[in-house]
Amino acid sequence: MIFDIITIFPEFFGSILEHGLLKRATAAGHAAIRLHDLRDYTDDRHRTVDDRPFGGGPGMVFKPEPIFRAVEALRSEAPEKSLPVILLSPQGRLLTQAVAEELAQAARLILICGRYEGVDERVAEYLATDEISIGDFVLSGGELPAAVLMEATIRLLPGVLGNEESRQQDSFAVPAGTPAAFRHGLLDCPHYTRPAEFRHWKVPEVLLSGDHEQIRQWRRRQALEKTWRRRPDLLAQVPLSEEDRQWLESLAT
Ligand code: SAH
Repeated sequence: MIFDIITIFPEFFGSILEHGLLKRATAAGHAAIRLHDLRDYTDDRHRTVDDRPFGGGPGMVFKPEPIFRAVEALRSEAPEKSLPVILLSPQGRLLTQAVAEELAQAARLILICGRYEGVDERVAEYLATDEISIGDFVLSGGELPAAVLMEATIRLLPGVLGNEESRQQDSFAVPAGTPAAFRHGLLDCPHYTRPAEFRHWKVPEVLLSGDHEQIRQWRRRQALEKTWRRRPDLLAQVPLSEEDRQWLESLAT
């Protein structure tokens, strides 16, 4: 999967590409991250990317021309293909695991990182095919959101995680074969490792029992309970078994 990132701070991505999942995935050829300096698409001596807002007010706004030029240059590399163009924006649709799953289907994505007061609205209206937000808060630029989007997406690509099973158990993961009406999985169950007793706090007995069916049931119930307490909004979209329902009812009474 190829990511083309349009940014005024290409060097911002240096350290995240040198560590962990993004480093491994790019080294192994599962993903390629191409950085494009927005200033390379300006046409004045000062390489100007921003200007004052029409109508007055504080701050600066990204001009449309360099962004259109950058995207059009990338599109012309593969003119026959439709290429998703994502503007990172607090006004976009929320990035969820389901959205990450959807993005992971694409062969290539262009990501536009805003700065300052934001981006001339004509980019959102006539250039971007999608706007994505990483949460209901405002950051100073789209670079961190682009990094978040890439990490969430790349870890879903086949072969990237050493252990495919671990991904299936993660919070929000929708089990394979789930009907499309269900867009969410549960929060993950609690995890423990050695020592079995730490400062008098003991690991739940069942995890030491070696009884796989008991462990499966305990984990499922813990995940259901956590989700019910912390994120009841998710539960409505999770496929539940009869056994799950009985457990949830027992919690409610
Ligand atoms: N004035 C804008 C915010 C601009 S923040 C508003 O209130 O909607 C500057 C840039 O940071 C944005 O153009 C966007 O690219 C990025 N950004 C900030 N918060 C973000 C978020 N929650 N999700 C995605 N991108 C975000």
